[in-house]
Amino acid sequence: MNIILLGYPGSGKGTQAKVLSQKLGLFHVSTGDIFREELAKDTPLGLEVSGYLSAGRLVPDRLVLEVLKSRLSKETRGLLFDGFPRTVEQAEGLDAWFDSRETTLDAVIFLNVPEAEVAKRLGDRRTCPKCGKIYNLGTKPPQKPDICDTCNEKLITRDDDTPGVIWKRLQVYKDQTEPLLAYYKSSGNFYEADGGQAPESVAAKIAAMLDGK
Ligand code: ADP
Ligand code: ZN
Repeated sequence: MNIILLGYPGSGKGTQAKVLSQKLGLFHVSTGDIFREELAKDTPLGLEVSGYLSAGRLVPDRLVLEVLKSRLSKETRGLLFDGFPRTVEQAEGLDAWFDSRETTLDAVIFLNVPEAEVAKRLGDRRTCPKCGKIYNLGTKPPQKPDICDTCNEKLITRDDDTPGVIWKRLQVYKDQTEPLLAYYKSSGNFYEADGGQAPESVAAKIAAMLDGK
């Protein structure tokens, strides 16, 4: 089974992807996480993408596709994409790649959350630099202010979760990623979930939609 999660930055793709990939035995592919890892390790790829990430712009399609193909060439599990594709060009690249592997896309799940809500979530998001745990100052605060519950590390605000960059990311989503809804809507595998609910109930709705797939 191969699945794509679509939606605004901050719509909860990462959270749902973790739950779903575990439940269904899929390999969770987050292009954002891949780029941040490379950046943290100071690799040549990390250097190449750093300017795009900090500005909230998209990494060029050619590079994204190249990185994914090389990372996934030996993966035999089903794939759960989170943050990819983000442009029609990437979606076409993915289609071609699926064809070449003689596999298909089984579901595209759109997490629908209003723009004002995602803007607020991104502004309130804090991350643990050590274990990756994600907090929200409004809805899921840490027990001690600014400290990770699990590892006592000081929480950080992601570089691209600052007001100017959040605004830019939302614009980029509307310009370049939203057209994917039309691209996939006609595929017969398109599902929409109300992403404004609590994470557990979103997860339950998605599980119900995929039941019998
Ligand atoms: P979010 O969905 O919260 O914006 P991600 O972690 O998915 O966060 O992405 C962070 C950044 O990484 C994006 O703003 C972009 O610069 C880059 N990026 C991630 N995935 C892609 C992609 N498929 N194509 C181009 N750039 C990407
Ligand atoms: Zn932690």
